[in-house]
Amino acid sequence: MRTRNAVARDYYGILGVGREASDDEIKRAYRKLARQFHPDVNPDPEAQEKFKDINAAYEVLSDDRKRQIVDLGGDPLAPGGGGAGGPGGPGGAGPFVGFQDIMDAFFGGAAGGSRGPRPRTRPGADAILRLELDLHETAFGVEAPITVDTAVLCTTCSGAGTAAGTHLATCEACGGRGEVQSVQRTFLGQVVSARPCTVCQGYGTTIPHPCPTCAGDGRVRTRRSLTVKIPAGVEDGMRIRLAQQGEVGPGGGTAGDLYVEIHERPHDVYSRKGDDLHCRVTVPMTAAALGTRLTIKTLDSEETVDVKAGTQPGSTLRLRARGVPHLRGTGRGDLYVHLDVRTPTKLDADQERMLRDFAKTRGEEVAELTKQGGFFSRMRDAFNGHA
Ligand SMILES: [Zn+2]
Ligand SMILES: [Zn+2]
Repeated sequence: MRTRNAVARDYYGILGVGREASDDEIKRAYRKLARQFHPDVNPDPEAQEKFKDINAAYEVLSDDRKRQIVDLGGDPLAPGGGGAGGPGGPGGAGPFVGFQDIMDAFFGGAAGGSRGPRPRTRPGADAILRLELDLHETAFGVEAPITVDTAVLCTTCSGAGTAAGTHLATCEACGGRGEVQSVQRTFLGQVVSARPCTVCQGYGTTIPHPCPTCAGDGRVRTRRSLTVKIPAGVEDGMRIRLAQQGEVGPGGGTAGDLYVEIHERPHDVYSRKGDDLHCRVTVPMTAAALGTRLTIKTLDSEETVDVKAGTQPGSTLRLRARGVPHLRGTGRGDLYVHLDVRTPTKLDADQERMLRDFAKTRGEEVAELTKQGGFFSRMRDAFNGHA
């Protein structure tokens, strides 16, 4: 049943889409072209004609019934071309609406008109607080007192924002809708644009007699003291979440969460890597050579460890499970003791002689430094055959 119509326009071609195009593809094509040819952005007179075509094509192809007529070879916008009907009418006569209104009407934005006033009571924001702790506290946990500065529920009005014995009033400017609408007729039918009501800020209600304590906000800023339980094993930068201890929302809305961010103070002796601890201990050269026994103070105990005879500089002793307790699961990290072997710096004459004798018994020749020329002059002598 093809309707023969010589002037049937190629609506698909106008939007540059195929016959199988989805609603989404049609919408995208329309948006792209409308941006290009809308008289607000394109002053070229030809663009006006083009824009009319684009709108007509979109009107037809975005309507299942009209699109079907096109697919059957008809033209729903031509007089007698299949019964266009609808408010747009043949040709979609009407003034150009604002560019933004078209964008809003089709792709979301201020328009719509069905969302109604925004609620006075809204959820509150999260808050964050920095908490400095010692290594001992992060390692073993602590109950830390904190001071929190956030909005809390106004107890005078319980969040309602109205003075005692008074109520909210319906906004007269918008009739309680929270927005003011304007309707324009276009090729596409009616385009409704809406703006939030400036009298009530979109709430649809006004507060004739605000609560004297919170001035209508339903909340007040207050400093509170809380105790936060820090579990053992937390690390620098971690956050502890305290549900609903953040900011109370406007109109007494549910409070956001409070995040306590851990900052670990550097320790004098231990540095921390994950749950392992590291420290440095200096041992004299003689002790490193002969072996010795050290007493190491850990975070929570004293340990006796043996330094084996012949220990080299940079050696490490590992004390298992003497580090930081794991936050999850059981057990602890290790403590690594890095040994610095100290060479004696000041030897008296006796000590020097003993050390030279010692070197001799080991077959370790030790060239003597002269008061004048040092190592380099002796090396030079050696090269020149004077040594
Ligand atoms: Zn209003
Ligand atoms: Zn109040």
